[in-house]
Amino acid sequence: MSQNKDNLKDKLTPEEYYVTQNHGTEPAFSGKYDSNKMSGTYHCVVCGSEIFSSKEKYDSGSGWPSFFQPSVESNIETQEDRSAGMVRTEVHCNNCKAHLGHVFPDGPQPTGLRYCINSVSMDFTPSEED
Ligand SMILES: [Zn+2]
Repeated sequence: MSQNKDNLKDKLTPEEYYVTQNHGTEPAFSGKYDSNKMSGTYHCVVCGSEIFSSKEKYDSGSGWPSFFQPSVESNIETQEDRSAGMVRTEVHCNNCKAHLGHVFPDGPQPTGLRYCINSVSMDFTPSEED
């Protein structure tokens, strides 16, 4: 699964590359999935691994797509991030290590977590029923 970063530059848009490979953050309320309420699954934009689903998505008002838990827990990995003068928990794809966003302890029950994820880090696949 070691992806060559030069190949990724061809495959991803500059914004997708910036966020997933350089730990960037898209501007709040700019993302295409922030207010997406359709049923379906969200996949890592780099490798296609399923990471979140509409069942765990909620409107946090933060300006980024927010989830209270990953749809496949083992497909994401978290790590302490001390950049930007804050201590946060960074979320990335367990498969290809693409940066996805951060997780904060102010989400709704049952987990109390808020996975704050960049739209550009994900590809959405609507479910068949819709
Ligand atoms: Zn990935």
